[in-house]
Amino acid sequence: MATASTLCIIGSSNTDMVVRAEHLPAPGETVMGGTFLMNPGGKGANQAVAAARLGGQVQFVTKVGNDLFGRQAIEQFQREKIDTTYVLVDPDLPSGVALINVDARGENCIAVAPGANASLQAADVAPALAELPASALVLLQLEIPLDTVAAAIRQSHAQNLRVVLNPAPAQVLPPDLLQGLYLITPNETEAELLTGLPVRDEASARRAAEWLRQQGVDNVIITLGARGVYLLTNDVSRMISAPAVQAVDTTAAGDCFNGALVVALSEQLPLDEAAAFACRAAAISVTRLGAQASMPQRQEVDQVPFLAHPNS
Ligand code: AMP
Repeated sequence: MATASTLCIIGSSNTDMVVRAEHLPAPGETVMGGTFLMNPGGKGANQAVAAARLGGQVQFVTKVGNDLFGRQAIEQFQREKIDTTYVLVDPDLPSGVALINVDARGENCIAVAPGANASLQAADVAPALAELPASALVLLQLEIPLDTVAAAIRQSHAQNLRVVLNPAPAQVLPPDLLQGLYLITPNETEAELLTGLPVRDEASARRAAEWLRQQGVDNVIITLGARGVYLLTNDVSRMISAPAVQAVDTTAAGDCFNGALVVALSEQLPLDEAAAFACRAAAISVTRLGAQASMPQRQEVDQVPFLAHPNS
């Protein structure tokens, strides 16, 4: 296997505070009798943890508050062997928090206070990017300010670095942001919002992916939940199926997919093989509860026999 190059993951870090109760509270209502769980989250942090567990050399660029949640997050990243040189601490804002209510049927409602994530600026990210070797890959999502994402993409391109954009959570993007991306990885909802085209099946995913390539994106992977992914490159157009598993919690499946994908790319796997590897990792993650807690170790993805040949 080729030596892995550095992965620079730039994005959010949150603490998810989850209360499960019989039903979701209506405005003004207090629901009693629930259980409470506190989990590390945020798309950036989830993807960084997924990549590190799978053997990626991860440089994580994020901003937390000068508080208990921020300190816990940094300790967690260090346990996961993530390079925290550019995990910055905002002196004034609190760490990002997501308040999540879940009812007995699994329906949820979520309020996010981005806190320090909202103050991650282009100037914070620039020194981290400037230090990267030419072989590094840069992975971004959309839970930090869009100006920061745009500036990070511009600087990466100026340094000839390959950029992977996971355009989540869904939002409309200015067309020039897509120009020159090595890879974009929307799910169905995000692909629909980006392109204005419905995405239901392989044929419609192909139309949306072609639209994205016309905007100047080199390669497109549209994730399609339990069906796997659709991949479009200059010379490949194909579905890559997800291994059949008993899903118990699909939270952060997309984050696992993206983290795993960039690890495989950093090991110089071609896109279709990297996507198949990422499908195996994400399939394991949906068989477990939680976000970061569900991210598999490398051995599990490489060795679980029933996941060995997802496309055969
Ligand atoms: P999504 O964001 O729902 O498209 O999920 C991202 C990726 O996670 C998918 O492309 C699959 O590779 C994987 N995944 C999600 N749900 C399942 C499932 N029920 N079974 C197997 N893999 C899944």
